[in-house]
Amino acid sequence: MPPFPTAARAALGDAQLRRNLAHATGTIRAKRAAVIDELEDWEGLRQRAARTKDETLAHLDEHLLTLEASLTARGATVHWARDAADACRVVADVARAHGIRDVVKVKSMATQEIQLNETLAEQGISAWETDLAELIVQLGDDLPSHILVPAIHRNRTEIRDIFRDRMGAVGRAAPDGLTDDPAVLAGAARLHLREKFLSTRMAVSGANFAVADTGTLVVVESEGNGRMCLTLPEVLVSVVGIEKVVPTWSDLESFLTLLPRSSTGERMNPYTSTWSGVAPGDGPQEVHVVLLDNGRTKALADDFARQALRCIRCSACLNVCPVYERVGGHTYGSVYPGPIGAILNPLLKGVGQDPATDALPYASTLCGACGDVCPVAIDIPGILVHLRGKVVDAHRGDGLPKAEAVAMKAAAWGLGSAARLGLGERLLGAAAGLWRGSRAGTTRPVITRLPWPGSHWTRARDLPVPPRESFRAWWRRTGRDGGAS
Ligand code: SF4
Repeated sequence: MPPFPTAARAALGDAQLRRNLAHATGTIRAKRAAVIDELEDWEGLRQRAARTKDETLAHLDEHLLTLEASLTARGATVHWARDAADACRVVADVARAHGIRDVVKVKSMATQEIQLNETLAEQGISAWETDLAELIVQLGDDLPSHILVPAIHRNRTEIRDIFRDRMGAVGRAAPDGLTDDPAVLAGAARLHLREKFLSTRMAVSGANFAVADTGTLVVVESEGNGRMCLTLPEVLVSVVGIEKVVPTWSDLESFLTLLPRSSTGERMNPYTSTWSGVAPGDGPQEVHVVLLDNGRTKALADDFARQALRCIRCSACLNVCPVYERVGGHTYGSVYPGPIGAILNPLLKGVGQDPATDALPYASTLCGACGDVCPVAIDIPGILVHLRGKVVDAHRGDGLPKAEAVAMKAAAWGLGSAARLGLGERLLGAAAGLWRGSRAGTTRPVITRLPWPGSHWTRARDLPVPPRESFRAWWRRTGRDGGAS
């Protein structure tokens, strides 16, 4: 995937994508706003949740050991995974030990982050997504574009075509005469998935939360397909990021109120599934839990930015982001798109290593909407600025100076002397007429095209036309300074 600026330029040319995104995010935004207004003390609730997460992160090591002990006592096998390779190896080993070639999956960001499906496929094990939107993405040989609605960039006609053309190759085919009516499409998916649920002996899930003192994993979802995966197969492997732990059952209360309202605009999740190890004769009889680091301890070491680990993956920040709404999730080149992706990816991977990751903290206008909407009060704009500083620091030793550094040096030189500033103002005022233009929908004259190196700026932005006479020239001309120059 190219770095964000290149990918975003290409995405901006796709009018259908922009229409799909604007419609979907606008609908979710309106639903969310309505259900949040119903609560008396939303702000108090989000501050409480933020405190719970911060206190848990401050003693994460202790809570994780408690979680391990509780899960083990209830019959689960706990594995520690330093990185994606470790985690994928555990899942593949469990499948191989049972001679399993197919697994069903509950929608999970952690398993996408570690590229589990691709790694299992290399070993001859097929992983089948069972969340409807994930199924659309998988059948379309596509990538998710949103945390909550991975197929947000697809409209229903595109989905009908994907189902009609691809379902038959991997299981039960779509019925003849499939239309793009949502109920008909959901019916086709239901039949296709039911075959998978009833024929597959192993499931893989993530978890939204992991309660340390009871050893309980929690998955919230809207369709019930996740619950089918968690209850029908014989073997269950759950890949859980270490930041998902909460100390006690009662800590869940605020999160289970904040999450559905922030994500789908619902008062509560239609399906909240909890499980603790193995229950004889009920559900999977072999349960493995993989506790995944994969950069989380690196993020934890950053005193300011560690608050990003509070994230409960609700996707509200994506739905309000003007940048995300215009370019979609693929441009971020990661399973975590939008504002949270712009901070989480550099925190997990580290900056100064690849241009695609270093570009992400700049993929924002810093309008602040993401921070305002976040149900766990993560200061996303603050972290974006913090990470921009880290990216600059990481490149201080590079051979060639960056264009921004050159521009800042030139600005410092020009602004450092009244005479040079005055000369610059006179030159710009005189030359502005040469490049003066206009834009449809505005009456204000603008500069639409500057010669190089200013062309780098005006390729994507207009400049207001400066006045023919600067303030300082006017001050002198009208004698306000008593005639002194
Ligand atoms: S950063 Fe906040 S708003 Fe964005 S997905 Fe995470 S919890 Fe939701």
